[in-house]
Amino acid sequence: MIKILITEFMNQSAIDLLNKKFDIIYDNKLWNKEKLLEKNIQEVDCIVVRNKTQLNSNVLLKAKKLKFIGRLGVGLDNIDTNFSELKNIKVQIATGMNADSVAEYVINCSLSLLRKLPNLNTKTLKGEWPRTTISSNELQGKTLGIIGFGLIGRKVANLATAFGVNILAYDPYLNQNDFEKNIIKLTTLEKIFSMADIISIHLPLSENTLNLINQNSFLKMKNKPLIINSSRGGIINEEDLLDAYFKKHISGFAIDVYQNEPVEKNFLNKIKPDMNCILTPHIAGITEESNERVSKFIADKIIDFFK
Ligand code: NAD
Repeated sequence: MIKILITEFMNQSAIDLLNKKFDIIYDNKLWNKEKLLEKNIQEVDCIVVRNKTQLNSNVLLKAKKLKFIGRLGVGLDNIDTNFSELKNIKVQIATGMNADSVAEYVINCSLSLLRKLPNLNTKTLKGEWPRTTISSNELQGKTLGIIGFGLIGRKVANLATAFGVNILAYDPYLNQNDFEKNIIKLTTLEKIFSMADIISIHLPLSENTLNLINQNSFLKMKNKPLIINSSRGGIINEEDLLDAYFKKHISGFAIDVYQNEPVEKNFLNKIKPDMNCILTPHIAGITEESNERVSKFIADKIIDFFK
């Protein structure tokens, strides 16, 4: 019987679906048990992971029968895809299945940070009544710079358009002819830095994007924008981000992904309760709805593959 190893959380109905046809080993903490993972991967035909299970060449070398890697999400930075290709192992991502959740997260953070909700919430809970001392802004009429205009970047643009937001997008792999509607203006990174009121990052992490947003970028930001990163940690330099906030080059930030996860104490210790910021534990793409879609999508792909 085909054996499937699931190393991180998966929606129960998708597991039930797989259970009807295959031999399943499900341990949603296995990503954190290196030796056990290396032992279990030896005999399985398929492995299902999220972003925590490190499938580097050392781990993949142990797999004797592996033919399929299902990724419950879209980022591939935890999987050695070159090595998988060499070993003829198919890697399947859940394309687009959590994109709506991420796009809603970005709009949510834009609205919350413009309205200074984190700070208003903290102060009201403390018994203060900062009704006239903390001013806030509308989203309507603002300029949103989207860096990386793939699936999620475009969904963010669609939602933001409904709020009357001007969209600037940077993606060197696209050109203006790719867009029928002229509402979206493809532009340069420099233009986004100088014109945007909100900057949202939607890039893969690669050699080209590591530290892409750094001290030099923040110095070029004219409108003290809000910065939102729901893509991958390391694309924004975290120290430079905090420095830019304290020097008032930016007016707030929402961070869902970090250079190291869980986020390091060193970073957290510098965050004060009255800062205009939102920190979340890599959940932008995780909602009940997206978890169901992502899990069902990967389960169906596994069933098709082993038919
Ligand atoms: P996508 O592949 O559809 O889009 C990425 C875009 O980035 C592409 O259009 C590509 O041309 C562009 N790009 C690549 N290198 C670039 C560069 N150097 N400069 C500018 N543009 C560049 O990916 P997606 O589905 O939109 O996902 C975007 C990111 O969001 C990924 O890193 C993914 O891992 C992450 N993500 C995070 C969560 C979460 O929970 N926080 C959930 C889903 C996806």
